[in-house]
Amino acid sequence: MNILVINCGSSSLKYQLVNMDDESVLAKGLAERIGIEKSVLIHCPAGKDKVTIQKDMGEHTDAIRMVLDALIDSEHGVIKDMSEIGAVGHRVVHGGEDFASSVLIDDEVMKCIEDNSCLAPLHNPANIMGIEACKQIMPNTSMVAVFDTAFHQSMPPSSYIYALPYEYYTEYKIRRYGFHGTSHKFVSQRAAELTGIPYGEMKTITCHMGNGSSLAAVDGGEVLDTTMGLTPLEGVPMGTRSGDMDPSIMQHLANVTGMDIHEITSVLNKKSGVLGISGVSSDFRDLEEAAANGNERAKLALDIFEYRCAKYIGAYAAAMNGVDCIVMTAGVGENSILTRKRLVGRLGYLGIELNEENNNSRGKEILISTPESKVQVWVIPTNEELMIARDTLNIVS
Ligand code: ADP
Repeated sequence: MNILVINCGSSSLKYQLVNMDDESVLAKGLAERIGIEKSVLIHCPAGKDKVTIQKDMGEHTDAIRMVLDALIDSEHGVIKDMSEIGAVGHRVVHGGEDFASSVLIDDEVMKCIEDNSCLAPLHNPANIMGIEACKQIMPNTSMVAVFDTAFHQSMPPSSYIYALPYEYYTEYKIRRYGFHGTSHKFVSQRAAELTGIPYGEMKTITCHMGNGSSLAAVDGGEVLDTTMGLTPLEGVPMGTRSGDMDPSIMQHLANVTGMDIHEITSVLNKKSGVLGISGVSSDFRDLEEAAANGNERAKLALDIFEYRCAKYIGAYAAAMNGVDCIVMTAGVGENSILTRKRLVGRLGYLGIELNEENNNSRGKEILISTPESKVQVWVIPTNEELMIARDTLNIVS
């Protein structure tokens, strides 16, 4: 069966068509600038040249229509007609406390996703638009929602309750939810396969380090803790997000700058993190280059990122009373030889030693700790789309 995976943003839509017989990607692509002038679809069919189609897409239904047209096109298409799409899997960012696993979409599920929009006002409404558009154009095809928060629903209250008046949790749903759950689940399951340790017995620390970054302590297949909280702002510093900080900074900033809460929140999300510290870039490639050329603030930004990831690794090893495996994934984890080397260099107390030769690779599944190391450290490229396609297949069959 072929599964269409949809990841819908407010003005963009990423897609992948996966043949689940062998889990191969038949085509993938991106529709950009939906609802904005000069919208464009970039369609990449496997084994054929990439095509760029410029055509106005006023709304998400237009984008879905163009995606389907591209998939069945006589030249750059990969299937004969829409009946070859067995089901659609949608990435949904926030499932709140309603969803601890993926689910077949019906009216009740749609209402729950809408109800949770207050927790992810930038993401859930866009995800809903993607689902509605598909339902309109493919009314008889089964749709599944796969939530970023679902895997983290296994966290215990001692990890997810904030030390705030308890009514804020019961009345306003204020608690830690965690994000990147599909990625943490995918790489932790893969780590169990690679190490041969049964998933239900394995203690893993998964480090999803990309533009947005989060770490998770996965103990016996369940999340014990993760760094992101109510929103994806908590945790380690990221490309442009501050990560953990003293909440009183907000009041102090308001006093000294006159900014209001919305402006301050925007600074914390968009102008902070390694970009804010360095003043150079949110991209680790730029930071590494600037640091190599002697830029002190770029060096400091990288130092702070690695230090704070190392602190969480230490905390999670303690929280799980041990660790069998550490996984690095996402843009930085899969590609930054330097960040991995320096991060692993901080973990000698765990009996970890870096295999320099293996670490000298990018985007590849590889063991980067030496055979003598007490804890295995793996680079595992994440594949959220495949995870969504697998969940979708499981549910519809
Ligand atoms: P997102 O969170 O947007 O999905 P990704 O997981 O794709 O992000 O990660 C993107 C980041 O990966 C880039 O901002 C860049 O910092 C980092 N990155 C990609 N390639 C390299 C590389 N070769 N060296 C260092 N960092 C890299």
